[in-house]
Amino acid sequence: MAATKSRVMHRSLRETPPKAIGGDGVWLIAEDGRRVLDSSGGAAVSCLGHQHPRVLAAIAKQASTLAYAHTAFFSSEPAEELAERLVGHEPGGLASVYFVSGGSEAVEASIKLARQYHIERGEPQRARFIARKQSYHGNTLGALSAGGNAWRREPYAPLLSPSFSHVTPAFAYHEKRDDESEAAFVGRLAAELEAEFQRLGPDTVAAFIAEPVVGATAGCVPAPEGYFKAVREICNKHGALLILDEVMCGMGRTGTLHAWEQEGIAPDIQAIAKGLGGGYQPIGAMLASGTIVETVRSGSGAFQHGHTYLAHPLACAAALEVQKIIAEEKLLDQVKERGKLLEQRLTERFGNHRHVGDIRGRGLFWAIELVADRGTRQSFDPKLKLHQRIKAAAFAGGLGCYPAGGTADGKHGDHVLLAPPYIATSGDIDMIVERLGAAV
Ligand code: PMP
Repeated sequence: MAATKSRVMHRSLRETPPKAIGGDGVWLIAEDGRRVLDSSGGAAVSCLGHQHPRVLAAIAKQASTLAYAHTAFFSSEPAEELAERLVGHEPGGLASVYFVSGGSEAVEASIKLARQYHIERGEPQRARFIARKQSYHGNTLGALSAGGNAWRREPYAPLLSPSFSHVTPAFAYHEKRDDESEAAFVGRLAAELEAEFQRLGPDTVAAFIAEPVVGATAGCVPAPEGYFKAVREICNKHGALLILDEVMCGMGRTGTLHAWEQEGIAPDIQAIAKGLGGGYQPIGAMLASGTIVETVRSGSGAFQHGHTYLAHPLACAAALEVQKIIAEEKLLDQVKERGKLLEQRLTERFGNHRHVGDIRGRGLFWAIELVADRGTRQSFDPKLKLHQRIKAAAFAGGLGCYPAGGTADGKHGDHVLLAPPYIATSGDIDMIVERLGAAV
């Protein structure tokens, strides 16, 4: 599609992306009228697809009643009702919600609240955070410092070091040795995390932060069984908090409302965004445990993180409607069912492909990883920009997907991430895999 001239500062300053001029369920409509199947919901955002009439009506209704009221002075009905829906309903569910405008802000809030919790308990030295390599937690400075994605970090280095350090991720395809059992792999990662606590000084660590299913950086990587239990135990032992970043993998994407429900643990603090509002309004949230909130309430009494647009009534009204629809239409059952179909179709289409090394995911959150050699798991030379070429070929074939590049150190290869809307039919799933197959 011809690039259009634009004064908008796009993320690539060398190219202008095509314009989207409309949406219709799982489809996006480009300016030349072409319909593009949105197989990744943007970046795992559009969980209800595009232009859902109920969400549009809820936004219009809220806009006609109250579009904005600053949280320094007022709360609002949609914020209260949305918070009520989000807290404490599953075992270990968190007690309070702090609404922000997106994922990075939710992570920033999580980092700050973790620090504040320890300060209020008289442990101000707990200022360090342990995160993982090949992770992404957002693009604001704190969140970028938490993320272990080398190419995003390097242009802005040194970031907030030494507050953040990074351990090996639970990425079995590249990190597990062939002669190692899954349990032994988990044991090795746990030992490394323990060693990192010891290296830093266990009483200097505020929190460990991780994505339960790693999203964009490595491509839908769930952790091996027992990993998060081991992490939770180590955090407990050292009095550090566990922050889970479910910005991408949360809000039903993996088949349960929160991805951590499938790990048999609960976090102390959690960041959510994308699927919360389904892209209808910018919104994110930090969820926090009762213990943390009570500590702050009975201490300084204030979490100093106010942003102008937090708990925005329109954003909360949109997210509230999105969440009501997901619950009323039992869409998480559909996520599980269609997720199985997606796995099956991907396995049929790419299981024997000589350049597809791994097919992995959970729920409606799947990725294929491309490798030059399946035997050695060697990725393609990043200079080939294979992921960009697949994206262009898919787009030409009427498929929007979310590809990401591999790393020069071969720690992961080019991959394509699929996160279709929860409303995708089995026909849509077939079409996604067929079009992706043609592009690859
Ligand atoms: N955390 C994770 C796991 C993410 O995937 C993202 C966005 N891709 C973010 C944080 C940042 O969210 P946002 O882009 O809304 O700031």
